[in-house]
Amino acid sequence: MTGQLTHSRARYAGWAAGSMPAVLMYHSVTEYDSDPYLVTVSPGRFGQQMRWLRRRGLRGVSVAELLSARSRGAGRDLVGLTFDDGYADFTDQVLPVLKRYGFTATVFVIAGRLGGENGWDEQGPRKQLMTARQVRQAADAGIEIGSHGLRHVSLPGAAGPALTAEIENSRVVLQGVSGQPVTGFCYPYGHVDERVVEGVREAGYEYGCAIWASAHTGRLALPRTYVGDADSPWRLWAKALRHRVTWDYRSQPVPDFAHSA
Ligand SMILES: [Zn+2]
Repeated sequence: MTGQLTHSRARYAGWAAGSMPAVLMYHSVTEYDSDPYLVTVSPGRFGQQMRWLRRRGLRGVSVAELLSARSRGAGRDLVGLTFDDGYADFTDQVLPVLKRYGFTATVFVIAGRLGGENGWDEQGPRKQLMTARQVRQAADAGIEIGSHGLRHVSLPGAAGPALTAEIENSRVVLQGVSGQPVTGFCYPYGHVDERVVEGVREAGYEYGCAIWASAHTGRLALPRTYVGDADSPWRLWAKALRHRVTWDYRSQPVPDFAHSA
């Protein structure tokens, strides 16, 4: 083994080379005083994290681009970047940084709360959500728009018609607003069960983002790595290694990704 290969393997350790595509989960990027739900990363920290990816030879991309590259046996230097809830700070705090590094991302927007607030987080603080115009602006800048449902409710408890509306109507709304096909769904709170995953499949989505690994893990319930404001470069490194260890040393490979390593 050459020194060069050892070096590049070390640079990629964890996120890009493994069998399960790595998808990072963000929410809001802004300065803050209070963040009880740990959904906010300061702009300084976010910039540091993106710089760290870049220096490792990794490129942040949308989940659609990541999965498409993986299905062609490529994309070994790609990491998915996702932003849940569609906070308005995406436009001014995230987009310029992504642009600087040549990265893209997926924003999972709540179709029934455009221009509203994060009212589902009881303790607050209140954060503004993107307007329809901001969603279009992000889409036009090359960002993938995915659906996070209509109202941000836990879907396993939803009745049939409500479940259908959350999954299908949100897609129709967001395709209209973004001018893009919407092919990804993100489960609010990461809550999934068989019925919900089946609903997403039947609605024609190509992939779904969960949070944790579960019996449903696969293309329609991708586990993601939470990244927070405490994640310094060495903690990111540790999370990348943990991802590799979790997915590459399993006795049972995940069927959707068994051949994409
Ligand atoms: Zn959410």
